[in-house]
Amino acid sequence: MTVHRAPLTNHHSDDSLCPPDHKHSSSAKPLPPDCPGRAYSRTVCTCGSWEFKGPGKGYVNESRKRHLDTHPRPRPKAPPVLREPLRLDLP
Ligand SMILES: [Zn+2]
Ligand SMILES: [Zn+2]
Repeated sequence: MTVHRAPLTNHHSDDSLCPPDHKHSSSAKPLPPDCPGRAYSRTVCTCGSWEFKGPGKGYVNESRKRHLDTHPRPRPKAPPVLREPLRLDLP
């Protein structure tokens, strides 16, 4: 089963990447002189059919999680007692 990921990246207003080492002060002011500041955050899912961008990093992150929840994820470990019977929706 493919596990999809949707990494979140930050971008400047000219679409260039604002890398994680572009630190911002607590007042969201960019610290490196060559950083014009984060204009938006973007996330692209590895499933290839979903992407999202917006000015609010928190909101983008929320949308990212919500989308990833739509993908079936493999169980980390099967619980010792699987009480729920496996439902096969046969016609
Ligand atoms: Zn930057
Ligand atoms: Zn996806």
